[in-house]
Amino acid sequence: MDCVTFRKDINAYLSDELTDEELNDFLIHLRSCPECRDELEINFIVIEGINILDEERSDYDLSKAYNRSIQASERYISFKKILLTLRYIVDTLLFWTVLTIGYFYLFTIYGLRL
Ligand SMILES: [Zn+2]
Repeated sequence: MDCVTFRKDINAYLSDELTDEELNDFLIHLRSCPECRDELEINFIVIEGINILDEERSDYDLSKAYNRSIQASERYISFKKILLTLRYIVDTLLFWTVLTIGYFYLFTIYGLRL
């Protein structure tokens, strides 16, 4: 992802509208680009600041809220990657189990030898 795409996706990120793949690319760029990090933080603070004004909360730390939001996104993507890895492992085990059972079934029923 480049800076132009990142900045186009900022609103979608803040509205929680990015797909998992887009979010992953967004976070990768965020880690490597200080300018876009600043841009996102400014957008986050403006939007959250407006929300806080509506709620009339004066003790709210916007910078900490921003960091918590990024950390939550990072945790979400890490969790999704773990799930995908587990799914790959389960699918692989299932494939080999079915193949092994099939082989022994054919061997037992028809006496085939490979
Ligand atoms: Zn950038």
